[in-house]
Amino acid sequence: MRVLCIEDEQIAAELVKEGLGSLGFVIDNATDAEEAEAALAAVSYDAIILDLGLPGRVDGLTFLKRLRATKSVLPVLILSRRGSEVQSRTAGLNAGADDFLAKPFDLDELAARLRALLRRPAALMGPQLVCGNVVMRPDEMALEVGGQTLELPRREFGILAHLLRNVGRPIPKSSILDKLYAFGEEIASNSIEVQMHHLRKRLAAMGATIRIETQRGIGYVLMKDEGPPG
Ligand code: CA
Repeated sequence: MRVLCIEDEQIAAELVKEGLGSLGFVIDNATDAEEAEAALAAVSYDAIILDLGLPGRVDGLTFLKRLRATKSVLPVLILSRRGSEVQSRTAGLNAGADDFLAKPFDLDELAARLRALLRRPAALMGPQLVCGNVVMRPDEMALEVGGQTLELPRREFGILAHLLRNVGRPIPKSSILDKLYAFGEEIASNSIEVQMHHLRKRLAAMGATIRIETQRGIGYVLMKDEGPPG
């Protein structure tokens, strides 16, 4: 789950990045509306955390109105010191925010609310992703293969979730990287290949009836494994 945190205060931004990072989220930080728009143009995010008091000409509320004017349905959680004021809370929700959390905030509460927002798009395609004997509930970080629980490192889980949302469709390597790494995070050139190798091994060891095919020069595609004929 890759989240864009639009926040100009460095301490708050770092708290979000480190705190949510340790809970399995991938967080990018933008310090004003302009940076946020550039990031949104480059990456397909799963949600936005938005501070209302932003430096520059465009404040958080205006940014949000502009975003909704583009018909974007990206979940937006406002995180703001102005949250104590009922008026700004209402203004935020009217401008198209999905949730509002006042600073100072509790990290666990922020994570819980974010998960609730992220559950919405998942709910549109069913709360669980299924292919063959593999069943995943992404918002609970839960995975079962043939009825047995399989625990995966968070990046492998992220890769598999992305593939399960796109069964039979070739997924470019770049789009997998987008979902898994924040800007500026160091990525080994063979990182996806290594994780894919581990993921395939773990799935095979559990008798998973899916297979991840490599499409040279393109990326990967997840297929249901029909097994040998007869
Ligand atoms: Ca601020």
